[in-house]
Amino acid sequence: RIVSVGSVNLDHSLRVPAIAKPGETVLADSARAGTGGKSFNQAAAARLLGGEVELVAMTGDDDAARTVRTDLRDLGIVSDRVLVCRDEPTGSAFISVDATGENAIVVVPGANARLTATDEVSAAVVEADVVLLALEVPLDTVTTCARHAAASGAKVVLNLSPYRAVPDELLRDCFVVIVNRHELAQLCRDVPDGWAETAAALDRAGIRRAIVTLGAQGSVLFEAGEHTRVPAVRVNAVDTTGSGDAFAGAVGYGLARGLDLLAATRLASGAGALAATRPGARASYPTMAQLGDFLEELEAEERG
Ligand code: ADP
Repeated sequence: RIVSVGSVNLDHSLRVPAIAKPGETVLADSARAGTGGKSFNQAAAARLLGGEVELVAMTGDDDAARTVRTDLRDLGIVSDRVLVCRDEPTGSAFISVDATGENAIVVVPGANARLTATDEVSAAVVEADVVLLALEVPLDTVTTCARHAAASGAKVVLNLSPYRAVPDELLRDCFVVIVNRHELAQLCRDVPDGWAETAAALDRAGIRRAIVTLGAQGSVLFEAGEHTRVPAVRVNAVDTTGSGDAFAGAVGYGLARGLDLLAATRLASGAGALAATRPGARASYPTMAQLGDFLEELEAEERG
């Protein structure tokens, strides 16, 4: 089983001609609302690929929470430990996507800020084969879940996003850490000059394995002091919102299926790319059948 512990939001996605600059007002071409949040998205990505998935999260007691529950039920994600907070609304996010597919996001944490690592939450992670974690809930919750997961032999996949400094102990408890290039720069306090330097910097940070995602440039896997470039699948990107989450969820799914990290990363490249070809986050995630066709393309590209 894959257990994703963390955030769930109601996303308000706005298509805009250009992202508003300070002091500017822009008119949106369209607006849509749907369930999101990094941990929900990662759970959905793993579930759509065929994984057995549980989401552990906290919502408010409001209409947004009811939308979340309906979506979880429709997806077949276990939601017994999606807890309800009476004093905070369900988290929300306001996402502007411009004509080039670039995005700007404001998140209101709401009930996510109240998710704590209670015994109930810890019990979920020790039952898991793979635990997906991201940083939209209190750091203490993430650290405690990672500790319990690692102690019980579960593989912890940590997406260091949105970036914040984390204790070394948390990094040591991770099987793999996933960062994009901005998060890498913050993690290493500077962008290292080359991938060999990055490998050394990650090693100094106490990270055993890492994947750096590079958008349309694919990703780089770091393991045992070595680095391997994994190419992106070439696609016509219309909205990269949630590509990183599709990628992380697919890595978790691959590991739960018993794939090695390189094979899981290749699978995730396909999932991330496909997610960029359609608007929205979760609405754009592929099933295993859709991804299968895509991965054949990836192989053909590597051969060519
Ligand atoms: P984040 O959304 O967290 O910043 P990235 O933009 O690096 O993450 O995207 C995560 C992964 O999704 C990439 O490593 C890549 O595999 C895939 N991906 C994202 N954007 C594209 C794109 N334009 N074309 C192909 N693959 C993409």
